[in-house]
Amino acid sequence: MDRSPYIGRFAPSPTGPLHPGSLVAALASWLDARAHGGRWLVRIEDVDAPRCLPGADQVILGQLAICGLLPDEEPVLQSTRGALYGAALASLVERGLAYPCGCTRREIEDALVAMGILHERFEERLYPGTCRHGLHGKPARATRVRTELDGQEAVLAWHDRRLGEQQQNVARSVGDFVLRRADGLWAYQLAVVVDDAAQGVTDVVRGEDLADNTARQIHLQRLLGLPQPRYLHTPLVLGADGHKLSKQNGAQAFDASAPLLALQAAGRTLALPVIEAGSAGEWLAAATRAWAARWVA
Ligand code: GLU
Repeated sequence: MDRSPYIGRFAPSPTGPLHPGSLVAALASWLDARAHGGRWLVRIEDVDAPRCLPGADQVILGQLAICGLLPDEEPVLQSTRGALYGAALASLVERGLAYPCGCTRREIEDALVAMGILHERFEERLYPGTCRHGLHGKPARATRVRTELDGQEAVLAWHDRRLGEQQQNVARSVGDFVLRRADGLWAYQLAVVVDDAAQGVTDVVRGEDLADNTARQIHLQRLLGLPQPRYLHTPLVLGADGHKLSKQNGAQAFDASAPLLALQAAGRTLALPVIEAGSAGEWLAAATRAWAARWVA
């Protein structure tokens, strides 16, 4: 039995203020931590510097505070943690589990067309494995992790507390994925896995749009000898176009002048019962009890 004390986290990318969809993920991770009597951390995921908005981290922390969602430790910034990611990458490269890749986007596309593979479901295109056995004289650009080891494709199965049993063949659906990008930036997959382990995170509670990354992250945890957290992926808030609410389809910051209403709306997305409360704090206390009854065994 796993007796490690519960540590949860909310890990926003500071690309803009929290919108009603991201508040759902923040609230769910906070409620799950509180319902387990655990700790709740906030980690600012600012590795993709070109996408970050200066000052957005402070805006996000302010929005969380107004809602009464206060982290138990000083938030950490991924931009200060490159040494940790570098050490993890070096350990993979030294053991032949990661390798330099010299492919441009265009070359990857051409190889996929030549192989007759169309691949649109995943954010990151399937990598055809071109540089798996060497760079063929090309300069190194990115670093990729192997998803096929000793002829065995990485097929990961895991349990999601809300979605149930999940499985993905990472070798076939994603292929060897990027850990360090051609522009030198750390890839989300590596940073999140290294940080969750370094911070002792036992439970990942985040939006369902990220569920598809879980198999890649478990693959990395296993190669790096890191513990596997439990996972719970929360329902998404849909925009007027029927797609997940996001900055791309015009999601606005939630109304921080009415935190109780914002929390109540997030609670509806999480299928919490209607809670009458006079303040955000009162609502959170009742919501924690409701969450515990539903999600804590
Ligand atoms: N930084 C990611 C995002 O904002 C979340 C990462 C995670 O929770 O694993 O989409």
